[in-house]
Amino acid sequence: MKCASNGRKAALGVATAVLALAILTGCNGGPSKPVSQTELLLGTTITITVYDHVDRSVIDKAFARVRDIHNRMTTEGDQSEVVQINREAGIKPVQVTPDVFEVIKTALDFSRLTDGAFDITVGPIVKLWGIGTDHEQLPPKKDIEALLPLVNWRWVKLNEADHSVYLEKRGMGIDLGGIAKGYAADEAKRILAQGGVKHAILDFGGNILVMGTKPDGSNWRIGIQTPFKTRGSFLGIVTTADRSVVTSGPYERYFMKDGTMYHHIIDPKTGYPVQRHLTSTTIYSGVSMICDGLSTSVFVMGLQNGAALIRQLKGVDAIFVTDQDKVYYTSGLDGTFEITNSDYTREPLPAEAAPGYKPPAPSVIRAIEKLDDVTP
Ligand code: AMP
Ligand code: MG
Repeated sequence: MKCASNGRKAALGVATAVLALAILTGCNGGPSKPVSQTELLLGTTITITVYDHVDRSVIDKAFARVRDIHNRMTTEGDQSEVVQINREAGIKPVQVTPDVFEVIKTALDFSRLTDGAFDITVGPIVKLWGIGTDHEQLPPKKDIEALLPLVNWRWVKLNEADHSVYLEKRGMGIDLGGIAKGYAADEAKRILAQGGVKHAILDFGGNILVMGTKPDGSNWRIGIQTPFKTRGSFLGIVTTADRSVVTSGPYERYFMKDGTMYHHIIDPKTGYPVQRHLTSTTIYSGVSMICDGLSTSVFVMGLQNGAALIRQLKGVDAIFVTDQDKVYYTSGLDGTFEITNSDYTREPLPAEAAPGYKPPAPSVIRAIEKLDDVTP
């Protein structure tokens, strides 16, 4: 059997290891010939692999949708809706498309859910650090302190009537990097499903969404990346169908300076990269945007509070990996997730949140859980 993924070694070489495993399994496991396409969008390598006999134009349509989302939400250049919102901060509201409105609205729900651990208004601080760009730097403390007062999700005002977004303070800025990939994966899935696709893997650079089962009816096997090891090295495997699995971790974007690691997930309270002895957090649910928002969120919240939050959410599970190679995961993953790297050991989840943890209001929890009901 000729497997399309084998013929695309160069493209897949830069795709995530998670996908590589899944494709190999898919190729070995079924008679269909997968069709795979890769593009660089949303700051990452995106590969969609379809295992059904559908016209290639269906995949093109899915990518066109992702490209639209990228063009609307990027902070690069001077064209995107997000750039316009940021440019008009403290000046005037900006009307946006339903895409941008919905993603910002959901991002604010995540802020409410996490007591501000997830906060898209870290934008100016993310820019200042420039991690993952050619101008990444350890900024002077005074520069961080100057921007920190501009970080507050409560100053993002949404107007449902005219779909406008207003940042209340001059100099404020939003960055949707913690949530946009998940939204785009859900949208790509929707387009593929409309085009008749039933079996597919969507790899959005560490954000994985699998549609249906493998063509032979068995579950997909999704590898969880070993932090700081070469892509393709897994610490464990999630075996599932019709789910999304999204991992956040410092190893995705970081630099070292004087023996200290500075990475891309920012603590909105300090303006510095989060330091909670975690090397990755993974969320498992039916909606990629939930996975994406929450994987970043719980990385910021840390193991204790992150676990307390996930336990409250129906249909959502999490895996936490610490810098001591300990793995903690919620009970919903029993029988679904398996540790395969003997350097890693499972530990029982902490029973309680840290003192001072503010549990989210039931209405906020409902707003997040509702995303699972409305997403096809
Ligand atoms: P992810 O890879 O999904 O965990 O998202 C990380 C990205 O989200 C970063 O590269 C930033 O663009 C953005 N980000 C960083 N810190 C935060 C935060 N505390 N809340 C929301 N977004 C963040
Ligand atoms: Mg995220």
